[in-house]
Amino acid sequence: MLKFVSTLAVAIGVALANKELFSLHKDLIIRPSITRNETLAVDFLIELQDVINPNVDRSIRRQNLFAYLDNPEDVKILLNSHIDVLPPYFEYKEAVDDQGRELIYGRGANDAKGQIAAQIIAVEELRKKNQEIVKKVGFLYDLGEEGLYDGATSAQEILPQNLEYVIAGEPTELFQISSHKGNMGFEIRAKGLAAHSSSPHWGVNAIEKLSEAILKLESVALPQDKILGDTTTAVTKIKGGTAVNKVPDEATAYVNVRTSVPSEETWKALKESGLESEWIDLILVDDSHDPVTLDTIENWRPSQTMPVGTDLFAWKQPTVKKILIGCGSSGSAHKLDEHIYKQELLDGVDMYVELVEGLLTGKLKVAGEHTKHEKDEL
Ligand SMILES: [Zn+2]
Repeated sequence: MLKFVSTLAVAIGVALANKELFSLHKDLIIRPSITRNETLAVDFLIELQDVINPNVDRSIRRQNLFAYLDNPEDVKILLNSHIDVLPPYFEYKEAVDDQGRELIYGRGANDAKGQIAAQIIAVEELRKKNQEIVKKVGFLYDLGEEGLYDGATSAQEILPQNLEYVIAGEPTELFQISSHKGNMGFEIRAKGLAAHSSSPHWGVNAIEKLSEAILKLESVALPQDKILGDTTTAVTKIKGGTAVNKVPDEATAYVNVRTSVPSEETWKALKESGLESEWIDLILVDDSHDPVTLDTIENWRPSQTMPVGTDLFAWKQPTVKKILIGCGSSGSAHKLDEHIYKQELLDGVDMYVELVEGLLTGKLKVAGEHTKHEKDEL
């Protein structure tokens, strides 16, 4: 298989210690890193390390970054997020809202450069407290999370042997995420019969057929889950027609589905929904990803489910616990006013410090973890 993403492993250096939260956050946002073009931000993160692997292969345009303090095999906790952002890029801007709170606008402000900045500074805070403990912490910043998922997938090949936890940062308003929906993409392909537009009755208009199918899709009952709720659909792209004076014989809509149940079940429901006809075909076009169940920390912060997906489905090792939590609200992610409050970033740093320290000292435990250990001892 052709490999598009490599993973660069570097040791974490002292340069990080001098970077403060807000300037690091700004440094990340001002380097555009729209999916497939993440190099500027990746290079910045690499330069941020004091010791750079002299064998960096600069011919590889897209690299995940795996950073550790001393020895990669000491790493038990990986702080993880994604470097890529959704288009369009828009610039960094500071502002104050009508309640006097300071906030930062910019692409990736919360999804997910805010998470990267908070995680890096949290590890710096921990390092000031305890140099030894930080040897057990690493960073993995991957590419392509916004739809390609190639970074997280290729990163699985280099995971440290003794890895116990991955803590993924996404804007969750400091809620722990107990599970999130899956993702599926299909096309509604309409066929028609071409004719001169002056005599539309001689043809069959594929755009009209497609429009009918799109309207019908709204009333299709898709499987639900008790915890994750509804499976939702959104028509996100559409194309059809080749000339202004021709009844079109082809039209296609792309539908993005956020699944609450395994994709296979969802697809079966769609195929049996009656949407297909002699003029309409439903074609699965992307790799589907099932909903993901995550680990949560007991007696800690509140948990909830999330409709937004992540690339955590790529993490398949049963021994690695997957925790998903971050600062800022997903409400502004992917929008043209994406922003994060400065206070949210500061709270994110505190939360990551508490989580990493808690897991490494045994003060915090993943729910169900000691029940399992007690059982093992019996
Ligand atoms: Zn994200």
